[in-house]
Amino acid sequence: MEKREKIRVRIAPSPTGNLHIGTARTALFNWLFAKKNGGEFILRIEDTDIERSAKEYEDDIIAGLKWLGLDWDGPIYRQSERLGVYEKYLKQLLDAGKAFWCYHTVEELEAEKNAQMKRKEPPRHLCARKTQNAKRKTQNAKRKMKQASSDWRLMKIRTE
Ligand SMILES: [Zn+2]
Repeated sequence: MEKREKIRVRIAPSPTGNLHIGTARTALFNWLFAKKNGGEFILRIEDTDIERSAKEYEDDIIAGLKWLGLDWDGPIYRQSERLGVYEKYLKQLLDAGKAFWCYHTVEELEAEKNAQMKRKEPPRHLCARKTQNAKRKTQNAKRKMKQASSDWRLMKIRTE
């Protein structure tokens, strides 16, 4: 018989407002699924939006889930307590050139998204910083190729 992994589902509400009916509904289905399969139901608070998150909303969400009888397994996880983990992986992505710092403001990003949606385009961020990074990478690659070809010519000269 193949080994089945233990079911582990979660609800991850943002404490940027009171318990939302949609969150309660998702929590109910996940809780039922976990209970039916002998799994775990985890509560993880998505509190990385520091500006909009508030303790009173977190308390309301917790009280609401308790009132609904949707008890969770283990401690309450908070995304903000895992920032060290994210920083480690962020550094890896930055070092590998797979991520870049974007200095656009929330307002600029919102304006860009609205303009794209008005043109019926899929919303995406076209960052000049990303383009600059890509250009730099292309230039570096071209430089390396030139270097490689001149090395090859030198080698050829040497071997002749
Ligand atoms: Zn940007």
